[in-house]
Amino acid sequence: MILVSACLVGVNCAFDGRSRSHRKVLELMRTGKLIPICPEQLGGLPTPRDSAEQIKGKVITRNGKDVTEKYVLGANEGLLIAQLVGCKKAILKARSPSCGPEQIYDKTCPTSLIKDYGVFAKLLKKNNIEIISEDDL
Ligand code: SF4
Repeated sequence: MILVSACLVGVNCAFDGRSRSHRKVLELMRTGKLIPICPEQLGGLPTPRDSAEQIKGKVITRNGKDVTEKYVLGANEGLLIAQLVGCKKAILKARSPSCGPEQIYDKTCPTSLIKDYGVFAKLLKKNNIEIISEDDL
């Protein structure tokens, strides 16, 4: 089984209440081997919700609210599901503060993007789950 960011398969779980459907991920979904997960919803955040970014190890919304705890909770719940079903790989949404593999937004940086992982992606990687970016499909 392969874990997948739920917004990539058409679930309207992104911060703006919309999905981020990805044609190739949708094709893979039809194999029946993908498990869609939204760690931000699993952490108890509402949809729609304020967009957020990682800033110096914390996750802060555009209105300045610290939501790190919810992001960490959702990441842990997502990891639990991955382990329960034996996922060894995850296909994740690029540049998300939760799911982002290798690059995430950071407005404090001149390029707005920094080399780092989202909270969920980082936890999966630490637990030896292979991360695949939607950008690499
Ligand atoms: S947390 Fe992940 S699955 Fe949920 S909307 Fe953001 S990128 Fe998609």
